[in-house]
Amino acid sequence: MSENAQYEFDLLVIGAGSGGVRAARMAAAAGARVAIAEDRYLGGTCVNVGCVPKKLYSYAAHFHDSFDDAEGFGWHLPGPATFEWSVLRDNKTSEIKRLNGIYQRMLEGAGVMLLNARATVTGPHTVALTSEEGVNQVTAQKILLATGGWPWVPDFPGSEHTVTSNQIFDLDAFPERFLVLGGGYIAVEFASIFNGLGSDTHLIYRGDLFLKGFDEEVRAFTRDEMIKKGVNLHFNTNIERIEPHGSAFKVYLTNGECQEVDAVLAATGRNANTQGLGLEALGIHLDSSGKIPVNERYETAIPSILALGDLTQGPELTPVALAEAMQLVDIHYTKTLPKPLDYATIPTAIFCHPNIGTVGLSEEAARKKIGNIRVYCTNFKAMKHTLSGSQERTLMKLIVDDASDVVVGAHMVGDEAGELIQGIAIAVRAGLTKEDFDRTIGIHPTGAEEFVTMRTPARN
Ligand code: NDP
Repeated sequence: MSENAQYEFDLLVIGAGSGGVRAARMAAAAGARVAIAEDRYLGGTCVNVGCVPKKLYSYAAHFHDSFDDAEGFGWHLPGPATFEWSVLRDNKTSEIKRLNGIYQRMLEGAGVMLLNARATVTGPHTVALTSEEGVNQVTAQKILLATGGWPWVPDFPGSEHTVTSNQIFDLDAFPERFLVLGGGYIAVEFASIFNGLGSDTHLIYRGDLFLKGFDEEVRAFTRDEMIKKGVNLHFNTNIERIEPHGSAFKVYLTNGECQEVDAVLAATGRNANTQGLGLEALGIHLDSSGKIPVNERYETAIPSILALGDLTQGPELTPVALAEAMQLVDIHYTKTLPKPLDYATIPTAIFCHPNIGTVGLSEEAARKKIGNIRVYCTNFKAMKHTLSGSQERTLMKLIVDDASDVVVGAHMVGDEAGELIQGIAIAVRAGLTKEDFDRTIGIHPTGAEEFVTMRTPARN
């Protein structure tokens, strides 16, 4: 009898989001008997209320600029372009249903048993599954917690009138006037999206400048570009209270202003989604940031209970959860000890308009960490906008360790910055030098060639 035969499964995954599904499929492919418990949609936040619908809505919002840009190239539209929210929303819903189906077939195809139930961990090897049929106990040699995150909204009078990123995609009516609270990824992305779709858009942020932690020049440049596109940015203020006003809302700000809008999005961060998992009773305590502590094998305080993705420390990003899932499976099932993940060079994009793409250190972080650096920077009008009439500009920036010549950071604000920085991230991850960048021949005419043609440091 194998050591695991006493358990119904080798691995029981809780949560069918990006990390959970990847771990379940890969573990099953490695020969483990795997089940996955999920009582909501398959694919988790990313597929259902995150990356996927957000990118679709961002495409929709970009058309606004494209229609304006086209005229300078000789195109005339028969009349002013109009936007129909319900078409976008319903087409998005159909696409997500298709993806949910793909996830189901992928799991089934991999031999993973799908358990449509809410899971509570009741012991090191036992899980209670609650569904319409009642409560059912199952056993597994290992249990993987992969329940991701959940939007968090601060408590203020009228905060119940806000929506979160879980609801924003499915609003019944298009908000002609839109307000978002927060200065992180979700706030700037949705400010750009609703502004592009035609809402009168306001972003409320409590600090001096949004996108705390990103390169300061990138933050300031993004602020200026968003203002040019018509987003109303309100910094150094917060929401004091929200009062319903007919079908709209009056949003009173701490700076004394009041905005009347049709929808308020709270984009004030996400918490690890641990509610109801039963962790406290098991003695698995959260750290000060509300995350589940794990070791390098993704083991919690109870070694048979594993956790990954947004539940644990590290950037809350789908590709990070996917990478952690692969590491976890290698460690526990294929037994080929992988190299540790490199969390220092994780590239990321913010799909505000224009997009931000970034990898490695900001100028400020590099000065602090390295000291002597060279900063190469360019700020230009893309060739497309010589005829489009658009005032949009592009920022590109390289941070170089002066002593070793290694490029330690690359940043961009501009069209398709995420697409471009993904390629640059390979070079930064590989530790290539500025000389390697300089010796790379540019592709002409592109904006991207600026990354290999910046010769004179803007500053040391
Ligand atoms: P973030 O943590 O990025 O930002 C939260 C924002 O809310 C911050 O600006 C914060 O201010 C502000 N805030 C927090 N508490 C309050 C409060 N009490 N009153 C007013 N403002 C407050 O969270 P998001 O919700 O934007 O996104 C969650 C995570 O999801 C991101 O960190 C990211 O990892 C991921 N994500 C990634 C995307 C991508 O890859 N493109 C897209 C969307 C999300 P302060 O800065 O002052 O702390």
